[in-house]
Amino acid sequence: MEILACPKCKTNAIVKSGVINQKQRYLCKKCNYYFTVNKLGKKIDDYYVTKALQLYLEGLSYREIERILGVSHVTVSNWVKEFRIKRLTQGDYHPTYKIFSHLELVEYLKNKDQLSGAGMIITELGDKFMLIKWERFKD
Ligand SMILES: [Zn+2]
Repeated sequence: MEILACPKCKTNAIVKSGVINQKQRYLCKKCNYYFTVNKLGKKIDDYYVTKALQLYLEGLSYREIERILGVSHVTVSNWVKEFRIKRLTQGDYHPTYKIFSHLELVEYLKNKDQLSGAGMIITELGDKFMLIKWERFKD
């Protein structure tokens, strides 16, 4: 699978930068971090597949999933086909998502209003947390 984002700063500004021990090495142009893709290993791949399919089921578009996970939208659509994921017909809600640091997340959830009439999933994403929220009973 293709990883499009820097594991450190999550931007897509990465370029190929040689091959080391038969692994493609990349350089992040924003934070100058070097990384190789195989280093992430198979386990993380499965993790991203699961996350991508969850987000797809929650109604996010391939492009949105690409932006969140750094996995190309083509790869995501291939996974959807491969695992025969069928999305239910969309209701009249669209989930929103936010990326928080741990402290921001705690602050956000302190406000009980954020929780009323809403469902949410919190998932770890690198050193940040992603919160996907859908307001079910809004009109
Ligand atoms: Zn970076």
